[in-house]
Amino acid sequence: MKDRKLYDLAEDIRKCTSCPLSRGRTLAVPGEGKIDSGILIVGEAPGAEEDRLGQPFVGRAGKLLNELLETAGIDRSDVFITNCVKCRPPKNRNPNTLELKTCKKWLDSQIALLKPKLIIILGRVALKNLTGKEKIKDLHGKVSEFDGQKYFVTYHPSAGLRFKWIKEVLFEDAKNLKKILAHLKNK
Ligand code: SF4
Repeated sequence: MKDRKLYDLAEDIRKCTSCPLSRGRTLAVPGEGKIDSGILIVGEAPGAEEDRLGQPFVGRAGKLLNELLETAGIDRSDVFITNCVKCRPPKNRNPNTLELKTCKKWLDSQIALLKPKLIIILGRVALKNLTGKEKIKDLHGKVSEFDGQKYFVTYHPSAGLRFKWIKEVLFEDAKNLKKILAHLKNK
């Protein structure tokens, strides 16, 4: 039943024309992964490879994400991965406020269906979109709770591709996440 609802939701997202990003996309990227793992990963927006294939995190940032998940002891096929906006912004610019606001209905519906125990936030845009908070440097690498939902915040992998120090922080955060998940499992 939950599978069916998530499938229908993905179909609706693929047809969505609610914001101007629909005009430039090749394929919308609803997200993919396991429904009942209790972990949802939320990035910013699809890039070129994601737009071409209709899948999240399959480009260079996706490769780094895979390494980070491995460091955190997470099997990628065991979690659900999506983005704040489901269509690629032109030239990979940040999604604007209107686009984020318009697309939030889809992310909210996914969260309502998946009921994740932990949402892993990748980057500043997703942090603001989901929690209203802006200071990633104060929140990364640990679990925070807002409105009854637990979040683990870290930087976006694409920032790790641009800056060596962020890549190092990402791997430190991934190691912390491994410990946190082990602790949550034993609770
Ligand atoms: S970005 Fe979101 S709101 Fe905009 S067209 Fe794509 S799915 Fe619809």
